[in-house]
Amino acid sequence: MELFNPATGEGGASVSLASAETVAMAVRSASRAWPAWADTPPIRRARVLFKFKELCESRLGDLAALITREQGKVLADARGEVMRGIEIIEFATGIPHLLKGDYSDQVATGIDQFSLRQPLGVVAGITPFNFPVMVPMWMFPLALACGNTFILKPSERDPTAALLMAELLKEAGLPDGVFQVVQGDKSAVDALLAAPQIEAFSFVGSTPIAQSLYAQGCARGKRVQALGGAKNHLVVMPDADLGQVEDALIGAAYGAAGERCMAISVAVAVGDAADALVERLQKRLARLRVGDGTDPASEMGPLVSAVHRQRVLDYVNGGVAEGAQLVVDGRELRVAGREHGYFLGPCLFDHVKPGMRIYNEEIFGPVLSVVRVPDLEHALALVNEHEYGNGVALYTADGASAREFTRRCRIGMVGINVPLPVPTAYYSFGGWKRSLFGDTHIYGMEGVRFYTRYKAVMQRWGDGSRAGAQFAMPTSR
Ligand code: NAD
Repeated sequence: MELFNPATGEGGASVSLASAETVAMAVRSASRAWPAWADTPPIRRARVLFKFKELCESRLGDLAALITREQGKVLADARGEVMRGIEIIEFATGIPHLLKGDYSDQVATGIDQFSLRQPLGVVAGITPFNFPVMVPMWMFPLALACGNTFILKPSERDPTAALLMAELLKEAGLPDGVFQVVQGDKSAVDALLAAPQIEAFSFVGSTPIAQSLYAQGCARGKRVQALGGAKNHLVVMPDADLGQVEDALIGAAYGAAGERCMAISVAVAVGDAADALVERLQKRLARLRVGDGTDPASEMGPLVSAVHRQRVLDYVNGGVAEGAQLVVDGRELRVAGREHGYFLGPCLFDHVKPGMRIYNEEIFGPVLSVVRVPDLEHALALVNEHEYGNGVALYTADGASAREFTRRCRIGMVGINVPLPVPTAYYSFGGWKRSLFGDTHIYGMEGVRFYTRYKAVMQRWGDGSRAGAQFAMPTSR
């Protein structure tokens, strides 16, 4: 498959998509490597990750450059992505502590009990185009630390960073077969799903694929966590600091050209907050610098592909046709010297209403919709009725409103005066409703639970005295 630089539209590079036989080879290799890796003491697995972390830090610039070249986001943002990934590695290096079980002395006379967490075996990760380093790192450092072998199927649209991470893991001392990359599209995913040796799948991508992969994986008895799409709201109370809100919305709606699952795509203006807010956003967007992500002056880069750009453009045209007011129109933007890049200027809609496609669906582009509501109760209803439940933010000066909102919103990640509440590595990331299929969120302790199986052990080492066969349910004696 040909690859294109989103900023220039130039092709030339290509990725070879794995056949079912290539996937089967990777699975066989991962199965062979697993017993020895699972038996490796956790502290030694952690040492490999310590070394890998150092290598990622020293190659941070290279990883970031690959992201910008293939995905398009600005370099500073790409560096931030790598840093957030490295934080997960840091968490995973604590694995000897994280795997500690419980121990109870004398649960019955002469009997003790303890619990263990043991690795699953071969696990696979399937990742989206928008975070080619960070999202795989949400998965594999912990999966490896827990003693699993891992097969990564990155997005076919930006496949190269995965290969550099694989090289760095090898350089860090990871044995062959413990981490592998298979490039590919749906066919590779289907081959992975069909492999009986794979015990678990971590998926991050769009909701229809997440739901389908979850259903297919579960039907085959596999453990699956499948994170899907989003439509994140930022609620602006009339008492909020509008300067702060303006900064928050510009960064969270237009950063990475809106191609973030935690991007804010709806601003909910409560009471009389809307007019002043829209005016501020219009002024700031007129100055937004759109350009090649490698140019340090650029604040926003291109969209990932020509097809995706057209899809976003169709949403904007649809919003106009449905009667929303397009108060900032980025459709005609051209970047000098980059006429073939997949750029779209920032777009801002006012008077958007539930039911419009631009409100209901995930656009995944630089498009922000303003919805006006009379009070917090209406804002909560709006947030809760949306099919997605990834992230939400509330801007207010009032603690009681913040507390009420936090408790009652049906959303997995909540920010109070924080626009992108992406949990740190020692918490866990995940949405509610149709933003996540499965029982566990990703990374943090939820990740440790996902990548291990729990075992409860009861043991007696006594003097050999016999109490005779018991036919009643044993109780603590
Ligand atoms: P996508 O669903 O198109 O692709 C994700 C992965 O699935 C890729 O590896 C792709 O090759 C594979 N895939 C695509 N079609 C498939 C099919 N029919 N069967 C099996 N596998 C298939 O998503 P994308 O466009 O790469 O990424 C953007 C989406 O990811 C957005 O919806 C975004 O919200 C979501 N996302 C969610 C999170 C989160 O944490 N919830 C994080 C990042 C991105």
